[in-house]
Amino acid sequence: MITQIKGLHHVTSMAAHAQQNSDFFTKKLGLRRVKKTVNFDDPEVYHLYYGDEFGTPGSVMTYFPFPNMAQGFPGAGEVGDTYFAVPKGSLEFWKDRLVAHNVSGLSVSEVFGEKRLRFDGPDRDSFSLIEVDNDNRTGWKHGDVSSSEAIQGFRGASLRLKDAAATGELLRFMGYEQVDSQGDHTRFAINGGNGADIIDIEALPEATRARPGAGSVHHIAFAVENRAAQLEVRKALLDTGYQVTPVIDRDYFWAIYFRTPGGVLFEVATNEPGFDRDEDAAHLGEGLKLPTRYEPHRAQIEQLLEPITD
Ligand code: ZN
Repeated sequence: MITQIKGLHHVTSMAAHAQQNSDFFTKKLGLRRVKKTVNFDDPEVYHLYYGDEFGTPGSVMTYFPFPNMAQGFPGAGEVGDTYFAVPKGSLEFWKDRLVAHNVSGLSVSEVFGEKRLRFDGPDRDSFSLIEVDNDNRTGWKHGDVSSSEAIQGFRGASLRLKDAAATGELLRFMGYEQVDSQGDHTRFAINGGNGADIIDIEALPEATRARPGAGSVHHIAFAVENRAAQLEVRKALLDTGYQVTPVIDRDYFWAIYFRTPGGVLFEVATNEPGFDRDEDAAHLGEGLKLPTRYEPHRAQIEQLLEPITD
């Protein structure tokens, strides 16, 4: 078992409209856009990052908005629901706010003893706000969202899988412990994590495979402190038989990727160097940032990208 994983780092999904996506996370959910860059493998597409004030690992929801991409079709082999943590007693505020912003798919329930508000993202992505006790992370106090309501970061995510056992085994190897189960859902948690500590597995043996599109999660990233810890994790995964990519420089973190037995793409990302490496913390997410190799093509790239206001 490895001990370097500290919870989630970021979740990356796909969207159909950049402006709509940015408005949803900043104006409706009150997150901060902490980076506006491009998909490093496809620079004609934005890569937008939203999180707390500094883009702290464990708070960062990111998107590739592919213009006019068709919506995905949910199924097995993907991340199901992404959970955000909110302060105790704030769900009423959020329910009223999301209704006022015409957010669809709202429902309140209690799962694993926690109150949650489910809602649809901009492309019918599946999200929940969960009231969490004793989460000492501070959300971004901004506009009409105060710190007693602001999203504190992720709580975790659920995986929809045909075969729960193999991925459960992998999570245990990654340092997670099974802490609860309810119906088809098994809850795993990591000790000593960054707050984004939960992974639920939803077993769906009869489900057809998900068809990815706008609103689907592209991959889910787990946090490690630094590059040394990442190399230890990489070696441990390789030794266990996983095919893991080499370490890739993503400018704001270093990344390795591997495909899980259930078909979900996992990433392990470093907490270093962070989103303020090329932008002042007071102005995160404002300018279009390009990796060095694309900087000579800035004019051309800017022409291809739909402008985003705010
Ligand atoms: Zn990633």
